[in-house]
Amino acid sequence: MNCQICKNTITPTKAQGIEIYSCNGCKGFWIKKGELNKLIEHTAGDLEQSSIDHHFHKDTHGTLKCIYCDDSAMIKINFIEFSDIILDYCEQCGCFWIDSDEVEKMQQYVKKIEKNDKPSRSEIIMSIFYSLPQI
Ligand SMILES: [Zn+2]
Ligand SMILES: [Zn+2]
Repeated sequence: MNCQICKNTITPTKAQGIEIYSCNGCKGFWIKKGELNKLIEHTAGDLEQSSIDHHFHKDTHGTLKCIYCDDSAMIKINFIEFSDIILDYCEQCGCFWIDSDEVEKMQQYVKKIEKNDKPSRSEIIMSIFYSLPQI
C-alpha cells in the first residue's frame, strides 16, 4: 500500500499502544475510529464527535480515499470545529488520516482550550467585584 500524498510505503506500526498505518515518507498516518481520543491527551468530551462537521474545508492535499473501506472518498473536517486544523475523515468507518504535524497542533489546541475553561484568578476577582452592589 502506498501513501496517496507522497507515494511512499505505508506500514502498520504502533504509536502509544495504538495500531496505526503510517507513511515512511511524509510520516502521516491512518487511525481508526475512537483512536484519536486515545492519542490526544484531554480531560473531557469526545474529540472525534466534536470535530465532525459538514462544512467545506481545504488543506494542503486533495481528497483521500479510505484504505479501510474500498477507496470511498473522505471528507475534510475542522478539528473541534474552530481550530483550523483540517483532518481527513471517512464518514463510513470513522477513520482519520492525520498529517505528521497535526498531532502536535491538536495537542496544543486541546491544552489551550482546556486551560481556558477554568477561569483565571483575576477573572474570579473581577466577577466578585462586579457582583458587589453598586454604590
Ligand atoms: Zn506519505
Ligand atoms: Zn473508511
